Amino acid sequence: LGDKLGNVFDNLTGRGALSEKDVNTAMREIRVALLEADVALPVVKDFVEKVRREAVGEKVIKSIKPGQMVVKIVNDALIDMLGGTLSDEDADKEEAAKANLLNLQARPPIAILMAGLQGSGKTTTSGKLALYLRKSLKKKVLLASLDTNRPAAMEQLGMLAKQADVGFLPIVQGQSALDIAKRAMKEGAKGGYDVVFLDTAGRTTINDELMDEVEAIAKETKPTETLLVADSLTGQDAVETAKRFNERLPLTGLVLTRIDGDGRGGAALSMRAVTGLPIKFLGTGEKLDGLEAFDAERLAGRILGQGDIVSLVEKASEFINEKEAAASAEKMRKGQFDLDDLAKQLGQMQKMGGMGGLMKMLPGMGKMKKQLDAAGGVDDQLLKQQQAIIYSMTMEERRNPGLMKASRKKRIAAGSGMSVQEVNKLLKMHRQMSDMMKKMGKGGMAGLMQQMGG
Ligand code: GDP
Ligand code: MG
Repeated sequence: LGDKLGNVFDNLTGRGALSEKDVNTAMREIRVALLEADVALPVVKDFVEKVRREAVGEKVIKSIKPGQMVVKIVNDALIDMLGGTLSDEDADKEEAAKANLLNLQARPPIAILMAGLQGSGKTTTSGKLALYLRKSLKKKVLLASLDTNRPAAMEQLGMLAKQADVGFLPIVQGQSALDIAKRAMKEGAKGGYDVVFLDTAGRTTINDELMDEVEAIAKETKPTETLLVADSLTGQDAVETAKRFNERLPLTGLVLTRIDGDGRGGAALSMRAVTGLPIKFLGTGEKLDGLEAFDAERLAGRILGQGDIVSLVEKASEFINEKEAAASAEKMRKGQFDLDDLAKQLGQMQKMGGMGGLMKMLPGMGKMKKQLDAAGGVDDQLLKQQQAIIYSMTMEERRNPGLMKASRKKRIAAGSGMSVQEVNKLLKMHRQMSDMMKKMGKGGMAGLMQQMGG
């Protein structure tokens, strides 16, 4: 995807606002990206149409290409659709988010019902959530397996309970799932438990028998949370699963497992779109600590695979004073790109994380960075030194580099702590840049970087 979008960017040229053509070109690639990320087709169609309408006419930040701008708009829309960002910026963000994710507001013992297809990760997630509730929220937790089909599944939950150091409802053979649920709630009350997890049996496919069973259990135990656990690798099937479960059960949220796998997380978007349910947790591994509070921003980046471009656009819009950029672009066009302008550009590049940071963020820049490194490198230290040279010049010298004679160069070198040779190098770079900018007819970051690489 990165390469494809890289090409799209190359084909778009900088203008004031996003045209319909800009948007359509970029959206075609976005559509493919979403499908590749396993977002269901109807969801992709709706989403693309919505963003297309919003994006046309949107202002483009100077020195960012329209294609990149579209990616940013798409990313924002994805985050929005996935459920917004986590509010807190502090270090406890993760913990705070997790705490808000489960409704524990009821008289204990509170039931939490785990539903989903077989192998989706219900049992594992029960263990993970139990550990989290015990450790972080100091809750007394009981795990109960309602999987009457597979004795091994019951033992699996028993082992997880041991690992998480939480209670486990003893196995009694021959009871129905509903009977076990009743017994679990009774035991929960008797044993002074805060939370009882009801880990239901899955089926390989959705059927009425499964739904009736889980529905009856929900009626009986009145869970504060009924979580649909789904495998993020299921892709296109996710929509059907989510729809069917949501029709029959009072679901309160989604848990997406195996997000550590190869899937791009598109199932999350599909399931969210068709159910409107909040995604609460992500399963990130087989072990009990493989649980994350859902973070829309992170998942949007994963689905789009363009997280770096998004952050580049954000940084650029933050730091580049648009007016200033416009003014120097105008000057460059007229061939009046002076050393003061160069100093400003160098400063902006430092703010944006230096050449290294900048290049890492741009698609297709890895190769150029290698070339640069081989040629002695353009690092942040160099940016500072180049700026220092310019700052050792008088205003007149900066505006009119043609004034530069040997004596002036010597003075500037001494003033900036650099050699005359380095002053010459900088002047040469400036000359090449202003030549190129005259040719290009536009300036900005992309132009500067090309020059420095060339
Ligand atoms: P259940 O049938 O819904 O109860 O599913 P299980 O909890 O038994 O999980 C099925 C398999 O998926 C097990 O081998 C788990 O270890 C594995 N699993 C569950 N969640 C995750 C996850 O988030 N990441 C990975 N990599 N594996 C997981
Ligand atoms: Mg299970």
